[in-house]
Amino acid sequence: MIMKAKLMITGTLFGSILACSPMVLAGGSATLKGSSNQNVASTDLSSVEADDLRFMREEEKLARDVYLTMDEYWGKQTRVFANIAESEQSHTSTVNYILDKFDVEDPVTNDSIGVFTNQDLQTLYNNLTDSGKQSFISALYVGALIEEKDMKDILAAINRTDERAIIIAYSNLLDGSKSHLRAFVNVIESEGMVYEAQILDAEEVELILND
Ligand code: ZN
Ligand code: ZN
Repeated sequence: MIMKAKLMITGTLFGSILACSPMVLAGGSATLKGSSNQNVASTDLSSVEADDLRFMREEEKLARDVYLTMDEYWGKQTRVFANIAESEQSHTSTVNYILDKFDVEDPVTNDSIGVFTNQDLQTLYNNLTDSGKQSFISALYVGALIEEKDMKDILAAINRTDERAIIIAYSNLLDGSKSHLRAFVNVIESEGMVYEAQILDAEEVELILND
């Protein structure tokens, strides 16, 4: 059961996760930004820093939207999705505040659930919610996978910026993700299963869970 759920999720999602790493996106949209000549005078951010911020704004929204959708399906079994969705709302708002502070255009033009400007995140949202609708356990694994992916992406983005305000904001998102991963794993284990790392190294996940 556990293997089946895990294999199904990683099998479906691995491609889309790789496809939407911030690195790839940064490279992809840097040209666009340069040619439109936006924000050049008003900010010290590099195009990579701006792209990372835009990505994180929508990645946090993705977490919120997946959890709100999962709560509709599994809200009778657990409050974990509803509770964490609230925290993701505050995370995506935090990134929006930073975008505004550095005068970077907000990619969220439509804040409806499941609507994304970044098409890789759109595909990821579609795949994750499809998986999470299959079973309660799949939904919990989707939650844990989102948190592991968030941490990987946030850590990478922290390494690509020297702006203190951004580093502090990212650090707060990281702390949130750690506690969210612990929350999802607690529910998975209360269902009698042993959680295995999906994106991060097993040792990293072990450290986070035992923190
Ligand atoms: Zn978050
Ligand atoms: Zn989270």
